[in-house]
Amino acid sequence: MSARKQMQQPHACGLSRRDFIKASAVAGGAAVFLGSLPHVQRAWAENGVDVAYGQALPENQIYTVCLQCNTGCPIKVKLQDGVAVKIDGNPYSPWNMQPHIAYDTPIAEAATIEGALCPKGQAGLQTVYDPYRIVSVLKRKPGTPRGGGEWVTIPFDRAIEEIVEGGNLFNEGPVPGLRESYALADADAARDMAAFVKKIQDEPDAEAKQALIEEFQETFAEYLDLLIDPEHPDLGPRNNQVVFAWGRLKDARGDFIKRWIGPSFGSANAHGHTTVCQGSLYFTGKAMSEQFIDGKWAGGQKFYWQGDLRNSEFVVFVGASPFEGNYGPPMRVPGITTNQVERGMKMVVVDPRLSKTAAKAWRWLPIQPGTEAALALGLIRWVIDNERFDARYLSAANKAAATAIGEPTWTPATWLVKLDEHGQPGRYLRASEIGLRAKQERPLSTDPAKTYEFDYFVALVNGQPVAVDPYDTENPVRGDLLVDGVRLGDVTVKSALQIIADSAREHTLEEWADICGLRPRDLEEVAFEFTSHGKKAVADIHRGVSQHTNGFYNVLAWYTLNALIGRFNVGGNAAAGRTVHAPHLHIVPSSTPPPPVSPPAASTTAPKITRKSPGQWNVKPANSVSRPVTSPALALSEKLAGALGVRQDKGNDGDWEEF
Ligand code: SF4
Repeated sequence: MSARKQMQQPHACGLSRRDFIKASAVAGGAAVFLGSLPHVQRAWAENGVDVAYGQALPENQIYTVCLQCNTGCPIKVKLQDGVAVKIDGNPYSPWNMQPHIAYDTPIAEAATIEGALCPKGQAGLQTVYDPYRIVSVLKRKPGTPRGGGEWVTIPFDRAIEEIVEGGNLFNEGPVPGLRESYALADADAARDMAAFVKKIQDEPDAEAKQALIEEFQETFAEYLDLLIDPEHPDLGPRNNQVVFAWGRLKDARGDFIKRWIGPSFGSANAHGHTTVCQGSLYFTGKAMSEQFIDGKWAGGQKFYWQGDLRNSEFVVFVGASPFEGNYGPPMRVPGITTNQVERGMKMVVVDPRLSKTAAKAWRWLPIQPGTEAALALGLIRWVIDNERFDARYLSAANKAAATAIGEPTWTPATWLVKLDEHGQPGRYLRASEIGLRAKQERPLSTDPAKTYEFDYFVALVNGQPVAVDPYDTENPVRGDLLVDGVRLGDVTVKSALQIIADSAREHTLEEWADICGLRPRDLEEVAFEFTSHGKKAVADIHRGVSQHTNGFYNVLAWYTLNALIGRFNVGGNAAAGRTVHAPHLHIVPSSTPPPPVSPPAASTTAPKITRKSPGQWNVKPANSVSRPVTSPALALSEKLAGALGVRQDKGNDGDWEEF
């Protein structure tokens, strides 16, 4: 039987197409009437009236999780005669209902209360009943080569047996199964061997290393046959030959897999995917949240900042369309729409496509794809040229200075960066290099019995160099912000903010706008509004910005723009985004607003939009010249990264090195 013929509706469905359409019509009709009147349903339930709408009964609802995208919204699936016919949001979850119902709400009552769900989540039924859904295990046809594209279907039980037991599965010799690969099952021995291998790896001398390998072989002689290669103990036991490579499994599922494949099965090889899609968001967040610990930049968190949409007054969505996708509509959209209606929150949507979010925006900027960093740099240029940045916040060079002005964070905007002979920015200047302050021996945070050499950073204060300890709580340093090419001893320096300004000034505003296919006026108006709300403005970015090979730098440019008007983790600005854990905001009063500046004159021209076909639009921005999309972002943004003193990821989770 061909693989195609095996693809049937799941047995659990048990519906013919005709039955399903009938059931859908009944359910749809009831839902249209009753789904819009949940209070009527509840009244009926409380009054003991016979409820004809069976989907409102708790026994006809199953609580589970939507996997239509990787947001993983909590849902309840409604059954009719045991068949899933409707999906709604779980009202117990803050992801679907804000505020969510109390956790001690009786399940019978919750059955009549619907949380929000996005259209893609609603379409989960279509995924379940998709006639082309793969519902059997596909195995390469024995005797055919890999990549030959020939498959057979096998029952699930047999698949489990073959995976566990192995055997001559493809008529090409024995294949080890999980049982055989589960070679080393002694956890104590595994731990001891791992510690010894670390010693071998840390030994720099080749001869000494070989001697350690021989010692390892003697010490663990009874386990050598369980290793992949006893001459290379670093490869570990044969357990490591099992690799679990998965796609986009977020918290809980990923945790479960890691726990199973690692501590339980004993393989070090559990790999989720992450590269250019969301990875750029996470790694930029990691780079920008690195702390100077024990003389090294470390401890950054893999996360990203999202706009605080319920409290912002002005949001620029870039490559993010929360009304259609993003992370994810059930949680984000109510915040946006409530804020728009109740507080008049303004939105700008930067998207080549007239998305549903753009349709509700104050401004839609139909940008040329791939030029998002150019837009960020154009906005940064305007903000710096017009001194609309938050100078009070940015001038705080250390913790004491930030605390003194009521800020929870601070940046290296005023720290001095050395220029090379070509005028290119490199490493931060250290106080010992100009004889300002000697290095200090300080105890390691991880092992106070040991020490490391601490070398102060440097900022100018009223033109005079001052040593900066980032975490000094006693001596506030408020540095000069724009320091351009000052000579200190043998070195020429600029402040980090000056380097950002230089990068942004490599093009005029008109040129940045032209690269993006936008009008200069668009950039001016958006930048003016962006800097007119204190800290309650934010650029909220997502994959349209990050999902590029230069996504790291694109994200960095937009996060830098957010940093210019305040700091992160402040109400109305940007908060650490999490899928499972609720965002944690440090709400503090806004600091001094930026200086007044006259608003740009109102636009007299607008983009020309013509309808091409249903749902498709031709957009010709006014006053713009079409040109091939180039990507100046990478070269420019590398300088941004250097200016911020962030780290370059040298591998997946590997070494980070200062530029
Ligand atoms: S955002 Fe929509 S598609 Fe994604 S998990 Fe939530 S309901 Fe499902």
